[in-house]
Amino acid sequence: MDWLLREFRLLVNKSIRIATRHDIRSRFRLAREAYADLSRDHAVYKQYIPSSFEVALGVLKARRRSLNHGRRSGAPYVQKLMLKAENQSYRLDRKTGCLQIPVRPREYITLRLTLSPWHKKFFDDERWKLGSLTIVPHKAIVILRRHEPHPVETRAAIGLDTNEETLDGVLAGAEGALLFTAQLGEIRRIQATHFLRRRKLARKKANDRRLTQRLLAREGHRERNRVRQKLHLASKQLVSLAARRKAVIVLEALKFTRTKDMPKTLNRRLSIWPWREIHRQIEYKAALQGVPVMKVNPGWTSKTCPVCGARRRDRVGEDFVCLKCDWEMDRQHNAGLNILKTALASNEALARAVLVQPDALRDDVVIPLCDVLQAGGFAKDEPSGVEPDELAPTNQPRDIRQSQIEVLLCNALSRPP
Ligand SMILES: [Zn+2]
Repeated sequence: MDWLLREFRLLVNKSIRIATRHDIRSRFRLAREAYADLSRDHAVYKQYIPSSFEVALGVLKARRRSLNHGRRSGAPYVQKLMLKAENQSYRLDRKTGCLQIPVRPREYITLRLTLSPWHKKFFDDERWKLGSLTIVPHKAIVILRRHEPHPVETRAAIGLDTNEETLDGVLAGAEGALLFTAQLGEIRRIQATHFLRRRKLARKKANDRRLTQRLLAREGHRERNRVRQKLHLASKQLVSLAARRKAVIVLEALKFTRTKDMPKTLNRRLSIWPWREIHRQIEYKAALQGVPVMKVNPGWTSKTCPVCGARRRDRVGEDFVCLKCDWEMDRQHNAGLNILKTALASNEALARAVLVQPDALRDDVVIPLCDVLQAGGFAKDEPSGVEPDELAPTNQPRDIRQSQIEVLLCNALSRPP
């Protein structure tokens, strides 16, 4: 196995060098230029050579992008041991987790992957097709693909404002609207705790760099896992609310740029907050359930009046108060409302289905997301027991983009069966 990973890394690095020398960006041209030589010099299973081209071109593409962003970047080189195999190269028994990886013609490595109930849920579902397999030391990553489920007919919309302490949303349908909040305050506390702990560790072990790095990496993983777990809970609740209410989720398109006049600590706090991660989770979970997601420009959302459209140019406090029409609402839900209105303005079909009357929300109480979910949305109508997958498809043209999910089989590469 070790030999195979090394050979593959060598193939990738050789391909990178050849592609850089001839300024090649297409797989076809790289194959024409390099295949014969690599195939002669390396006695591996031949399918790995085109796979290594793909990895090499991916590395070069990422490098071009970072150069475009003005970052400096040395000569590209893959350091991590890895192997990538397309789905026709390897065999995986989906029931037992028995994995067969070719080394050379008629020579295989057989591994037994430990499958948890979570893995089995995907492997037992025939709709998920096997994609590529990536192996790094102690980890096998199998990509599973599936056609996106039919998008459900939208009858409601959720405008969501992402904040440091909370996710603040407005759910609006033909029957009315309500305000909800999901608490994320724990995340900041977790991050603060781990930040202090890392500082302390770095100081204490300053004389041993290797040990410091290892301990810091471990702290980082722990922090990430704890934060992600909180985010998973909120994103799951949000998406199941949207699926049940047949709502489209409207998010703000994020672009966080550090501003020079912000205090250093605030800048750090905001830059380590997992803005992208929460949106990534919402997006992929929504895709799995056929819930559409829209993104709108977040400009001015917290400073605009959703009733009369007037903007405030000064600082807005806890509550947004309109200077023209006296509209008043807490800043975050006001932003959620504006995000929702922006989406309705850009989509006619949605605007016909969803009625937003800010005035009706004026004195509404904000409900915790988990309570909204339990009540099934609005109090007056009964929750539908139908799974989103079984809902009648709309007459919109079917989207055949494929959604992907990575199934990580950690620590599964211990020993052959
Ligand atoms: Zn106003």
